Amino acid sequence: MERPSPLVIVRAVRTLISVASFAFLFACGSEEEGLNPAPDSGTNAPNDSGTPPADSGVVGADAGFVDATPNDTGVVVDPPGELTLPAVTTGANGDSPEVNFELPAGVVSFMIVLEGPNDVTMIVKRLSGPGGVLVTDDDSALTQLERLFLGPWGAQFKSPNRVVQDIGISSSLFPNNPGVNVSGGSYTMVASAVRIQGQNGNPYQGTLTGKVLYRMAQASAGRLDLHLYFSGAGNLTAAAAPTDPLVQGALQKLSSVYAQANLTVGAVDYHDVDASFRTISGIDGSSDQLERMFRLTEGRGAGLHYFFVDRFEGGLPGGMVAGISGGLPGPPLRPGTNNSGVAVALAAINGDPEILGHVMAHEGGHWLGLFHTAEFIGTQDQLSDTPSDQTAGQNYLMYPAVGGGTMVSPSQSTVIRHHLEVVGG
Ligand SMILES: [Zn+2]
Repeated sequence: MERPSPLVIVRAVRTLISVASFAFLFACGSEEEGLNPAPDSGTNAPNDSGTPPADSGVVGADAGFVDATPNDTGVVVDPPGELTLPAVTTGANGDSPEVNFELPAGVVSFMIVLEGPNDVTMIVKRLSGPGGVLVTDDDSALTQLERLFLGPWGAQFKSPNRVVQDIGISSSLFPNNPGVNVSGGSYTMVASAVRIQGQNGNPYQGTLTGKVLYRMAQASAGRLDLHLYFSGAGNLTAAAAPTDPLVQGALQKLSSVYAQANLTVGAVDYHDVDASFRTISGIDGSSDQLERMFRLTEGRGAGLHYFFVDRFEGGLPGGMVAGISGGLPGPPLRPGTNNSGVAVALAAINGDPEILGHVMAHEGGHWLGLFHTAEFIGTQDQLSDTPSDQTAGQNYLMYPAVGGGTMVSPSQSTVIRHHLEVVGG
């Protein structure tokens, strides 16, 4: 059986959620975003000064470790520790040499961020550490269906710690399920990269950079700041949105969903973007308009960045795509990249703030590191407290289509609080 082209796989990573209350459409692969504000957090005054907020960015560290002070209070120390990996040159097969790095004793979670040219797709191909293999390229556990739909990196999708590829910048979160034990010690990684041209994926020979961001404690609660961007879709503007019933109703819904994970919404900033982004075309990979829009987050600071557009074109045939997440997970503390935001389509939500908030929470869930409870091809998430069957799965936020419930399990809550964009509450 022929495998799908890398093009299909790349866009499979861009998890699409379709609106269909009765006919659940196959949404190939998965990925997106999610966050929630506190019920009484309200919103901040619109940011119309034209001056981006200070970019908290990441801690500067050219090499070696930045000490993150361990603590036993349950409050996460911000910012995270950071380790810059040596730049690597990929070979004729697109693979990097082995990269070794050391994490300090007491590390409880970390994220690997790989970066390359904006048109190059990359992934953590293999990773092993003190606890054994985290990411493998051994695809022997894949079913025939998975071989067909998961594509060349199906083994990584089925790895003990699931990872997916992405374009320009890719992020991976460890651990993203309770079966993975993360600790300090020595790790060995191989990255791999391709450049998609038409229907072909050609091994990328060139430079990749990377860093590891880590934490020494996980908070029992967290806070997430938001940035909302308006293209003029739905006649919404940054000036009007703070009092708009649709936007504010959706934020209330988002807050209530994320409250299940002890996440509250912190500051909310409002921005306008060019009207050319009202319709996002070529989400099948034939255009980079989505990535260009997400790069408008440059200089806007930390938090989850939501873009409100009219519609997406080039997606699922017959399906109305309601939202897309840049990255699964998205790159932490790194605005201005291909994957630094989440986009939601107002044409798909019929003016309903409940549906809009649901889509925002689902896509935000992807961006923070959550996969679908189960893909339509049967591949289940790696969390023991989410349903394995699609019927029960419909009660959960991360069911791959809108129309059901918005439950978030304890394991899912733990995963999203590991994402470094979530700060101590
Ligand atoms: Zn999804």
